[in-house]
Amino acid sequence: MNRIAVCPGSFDPVTNGHIDIIKRASSMFDKVIVLVMYNARKNGGTLPVEERAELIRRCVDGMPNVAVDFYGGLLADYVKMNGVCAIVKGLRAVSDFEDEFQQALANKKLAPDVETVFAVTSSEYMYLSSSVVREICRYGGDISGFVPDVIREDIVKKYSSET
Ligand code: ADP
Repeated sequence: MNRIAVCPGSFDPVTNGHIDIIKRASSMFDKVIVLVMYNARKNGGTLPVEERAELIRRCVDGMPNVAVDFYGGLLADYVKMNGVCAIVKGLRAVSDFEDEFQQALANKKLAPDVETVFAVTSSEYMYLSSSVVREICRYGGDISGFVPDVIREDIVKKYSSET
């Protein structure tokens, strides 16, 4: 059976915490789609979704069952249109839980055949979020270890000028 999972998020920008969840999802499912979403609650984000997706593509180059896509609509519609069986989300702390729980229930209502699966963060990435990376870039700090090396310089360039 071809079991397709989606890892949705803003990825503004992608971090090592995201990559860890993507890798782990790729070992559990036949195919993983990393889905960059336009999040109206985050004012659409800093970089255009196409650019965020391009940065992720460079990081998942060596993962043969991982693809990257972007979408401006409802996640529930995307999963139904693409034969997805699971939505994989990462949990860093209790504070992530309430929002993720609500989203999982709403998605279950809209797409009843699709399960939300939660992966607990690896402890070394517990503190890591895209907003922490944006904040460090804004003040010219060092993001080594926060984002994949292959895109680090591009992130510094893009986010120090745009934030
Ligand atoms: P952020 O909360 O960093 O802005 P996103 O909206 O892009 O991130 O998050 C996409 C998914 O990745 C969410 O399920 C989020 O909980 C998860 N995630 C983000 N950072 C981490 C991390 N350091 N460890 C585990 N999961 C994470």
